[in-house]
Amino acid sequence: MTPQRSAFVASLQEGAAGGLAKRVPRLLLGLVAVLAVLAGCATPPAERPPLRLTILHTNDHHGRFWPNADGEYGMAARKTAIDRVRAEVAAAGGQLLLLDGGDINTGVPESDLQDAEPDFLGMNLLGYDASAVGNHEFDKPPAVLAKQRQWARFAFLSANIYKDGQRMFEPYRVFERGGYKIAVLGLTTDDTQKMVLPDNIRGIEFRKPIPEAAKLLPELRAKADMVIAATHMGHYTDGRRGVNAPGDVELARQVHIDGRGLDLIVGGHSQSPVCMLTENVRNDAYQPGGPCGPDRQNGTWIVQAHEWGKYVGRADFEVRAGDIRLLRYQLIPINMVRRAADGSKALATEAIAQDPAVRAALQPFQDQGQLALNVPVGQTIGVFDGDRVRVRQQPTNLGILLARAMLQRTDADLAVMNAGGIRDSLPEGRITYRDLLKVQPFANQVAVVTLTGRELLDWLGSAAKMTPGAGGFAQTVGVQMRIEGGVLKEARVQGRPIDPQRTYRLAINHFTATGGDGYPRLETHPGYINTGLNDADVLREYIAARSPLKAADYMPGDDVQRK
Ligand SMILES: [Zn+2]
Repeated sequence: MTPQRSAFVASLQEGAAGGLAKRVPRLLLGLVAVLAVLAGCATPPAERPPLRLTILHTNDHHGRFWPNADGEYGMAARKTAIDRVRAEVAAAGGQLLLLDGGDINTGVPESDLQDAEPDFLGMNLLGYDASAVGNHEFDKPPAVLAKQRQWARFAFLSANIYKDGQRMFEPYRVFERGGYKIAVLGLTTDDTQKMVLPDNIRGIEFRKPIPEAAKLLPELRAKADMVIAATHMGHYTDGRRGVNAPGDVELARQVHIDGRGLDLIVGGHSQSPVCMLTENVRNDAYQPGGPCGPDRQNGTWIVQAHEWGKYVGRADFEVRAGDIRLLRYQLIPINMVRRAADGSKALATEAIAQDPAVRAALQPFQDQGQLALNVPVGQTIGVFDGDRVRVRQQPTNLGILLARAMLQRTDADLAVMNAGGIRDSLPEGRITYRDLLKVQPFANQVAVVTLTGRELLDWLGSAAKMTPGAGGFAQTVGVQMRIEGGVLKEARVQGRPIDPQRTYRLAINHFTATGGDGYPRLETHPGYINTGLNDADVLREYIAARSPLKAADYMPGDDVQRK
């Protein structure tokens, strides 16, 4: 038995005994029964047979309607996996709900360029019952979101988003399954306010989700046998959330009435497989196919299925009046590949065929997406130099352009772009999205991290060590450095000395933040925020807003001096 397995079993056993019965003394339950009889219930309602309820869940789909080059994920294979579970559950007399934790939008150009229409269509075809509204649903202008709400044939839920004093979305929906009522409440991180363009959320207010949930819980308890929150708030292990707004752990800990909180939180936003090794210790090295024990806080189960439809989470419950038990939990990998240290790849579990009808319905969108990559996004005057040898030796105008686009989008003080992420030059003249994907083909996400001056100096010290010729060679904006023999001698931000006491916002990409090209890891830093924005898309927006772009305006000055 692996340590993961034993922790998983232990948490499930705790779950089996952790229903209402455990917390309410038996004497009191007996008293309630006696009072019911005294109150004159001549014919007590027939005992409902317990409900076998399977919750399937995904989150942070981010435009991944189509499989990647390795055949991983994609909605057609996801459909096959879901249908298999549906058939199995139905044969055993059970019931099912299919839920999503939000962020349907943003991530791959083929989806982004079509306003995520294939993704909403796919969710309809897969039979989603409900989804939380994620922060990335506000990446596009309000008209696009309005269109998407028309497309969605599932409940698109958020209780804490208000427009002109009224809730903008349906706050919750009550589903009837096998004679039981299951309430699904939607919640959205209040960080949305600072993650999206102000123009897209004019007049919209993101209230704190936890007080909103606390306010609604009595109403939901009165209406339903089981209360689920579909949230887009993030899972922060043991509530260690750093600069992020409170997430699912805090929600579970803070929201309860009469000792009973939410029964289940189907989360998203942190894009984590929520698989616990032991109490308050998450397995951050989770591998596809491994056992997964969800988090449990204050009697509330918390699940999250990583991102992009890489997994479908499956939680099998037994529901009785006042008693919810989790019987089994797993993450079903959707054609996920395990990569060995030697670079070899193998499917983590058996291959899942693509559902032909879903594949056929999505194919025209994939084709259209490919064509849309040839549409001009802007114009350049002069060449932006991405020559492999030069960008790894010295600052170039393309390195500066990429860093400036990241800096501008994240409102950072400084930005660092690893030269290894720059794969081609940007030609003079008409620029298409395809040109941008040649420069940045990795679909990296742009991130921003808040560091103290002391931490920033340490980090810049590591950046200074990246020798010319290495992929880690730093293309920078907003920072002035004097480097001698790979040692940082002096650093300034925006021309001013770095104050060890103050904090600075550093824009980088997720690859660099996870240790890519030899950089120190930042993605576990409490000040780290992965914006989820695709790097090429950030560049596209930047160019489109400033076209024609003059190469001469991006010439490197003497910000970085090396000896
Ligand atoms: Zn999110």
